[in-house]
Amino acid sequence: MNIHEYQAKQVLGGYGIPVSKGKVAFSAEEAVKVADEIGGSLWVVKAQIHAGGRGKAGGVILARSLDEVKAATSKILGKTLVTHQTGPKGQLVRKVYIEQGCDIDKEFYLSMIVNRQTESVSVMASQAGGVDIEEVAASMPEKIVTFSIDPVSGFQPFHGRKVAFALGLEAQAIKQMITMVAGLYQAFVKLDCSQIEINPLVLTTQGNLIALDAKVSFDDNGLIRHPDIEALRDTDEEDPAETQAHEYELSYVKLDGSIGCMVNGAGLAMATMDIIKLHGGEPANFLDVGGGATKEKVSAAFKLILADQNVKAILINIFGGIMRCDVIAEGIVAAAKEVHLSVPMVVRLQGTNGELGKKILKESTLKIISEDDLSQAAACVVKSIRGAA
Ligand code: ADP
Ligand code: MG
Repeated sequence: MNIHEYQAKQVLGGYGIPVSKGKVAFSAEEAVKVADEIGGSLWVVKAQIHAGGRGKAGGVILARSLDEVKAATSKILGKTLVTHQTGPKGQLVRKVYIEQGCDIDKEFYLSMIVNRQTESVSVMASQAGGVDIEEVAASMPEKIVTFSIDPVSGFQPFHGRKVAFALGLEAQAIKQMITMVAGLYQAFVKLDCSQIEINPLVLTTQGNLIALDAKVSFDDNGLIRHPDIEALRDTDEEDPAETQAHEYELSYVKLDGSIGCMVNGAGLAMATMDIIKLHGGEPANFLDVGGGATKEKVSAAFKLILADQNVKAILINIFGGIMRCDVIAEGIVAAAKEVHLSVPMVVRLQGTNGELGKKILKESTLKIISEDDLSQAAACVVKSIRGAA
């Protein structure tokens, strides 16, 4: 799950990460009020969307008076911002962050990610901040310093010094960096993050470090432990299908193919996608309904698949272990009737109450092809599309 910059700064501020004074605003009038509260003579008006690259796209504007704050907010609010991270459709700006402006001496890059290869949290730092790190990685990889933090011993002050020296910091900024890396690591581990990116992390002309931008992503599987973080979810920024899947606790990822899949178990779902490809088809999605799915859950999963315009056929592959095939069959029949199923559907039901499940499917008036063998089922669903075309 991703959150907005203003939320990320609030979260990280709680772990001692220095951030500028700021507040979110939903209208130009509110923006002026907020700027007045913050005080000073330089503000930055920043579009709040779940995507970076806002600066280059006109979503970050410096303002030197309250009138300029008002004008900048009016310009950004309600606009669809297209950045290199939003895709061509862009993202509608529904709120702005009004932040105190600062005098920047240098812009750096600092991030932490879960590194699956080293099975630890990796730190990445670069003197080339404020720009795309992918660009730096491609053209000047020597400008990026990377190392992992041992999960057993955890953060040690030398980790902070390593970053400080890589960025060429001096005196008080070195001390600040040690505190910052410590705080970021603590937040990362405690909150089950998958990524924290500070770009830019700036050194001000007064010699202080400030996190000027912040992107924090959380591991969805850890959210159950953090209701306060879950509360920061902004569904306006998410893919509607994935939001719906989340509500029903379904693991759903949309793909580009034409065969909708409903499977129980992530491993079986992967195998199902593989076998569809083996038979020359392309899966339209990954969908794991989980081990203990209910009739309602199956019905929701089914509607999710059918809402995708690309879906030309459906393959349901369920192995009934904890889950009973008759429950699945009832869910399928109920949902198919409700949404007026118009594409071919192949169902493979195996395991607990398998026969009963197949009987329910057969006795419904729906056009469902029942197959016991997975390879046959995949071949059949691929053929059904070819037949239609
Ligand atoms: P994005 O990464 O989406 O483009 P950033 O928050 O990184 O957005 O802002 C882009 C640039 O705007 C920064 O690299 C920095 O130069 C400038 N900037 C952002 N916030 C401030 C601020 N509070 N004071 C001064 N400059 C800022
Ligand atoms: Mg940035």
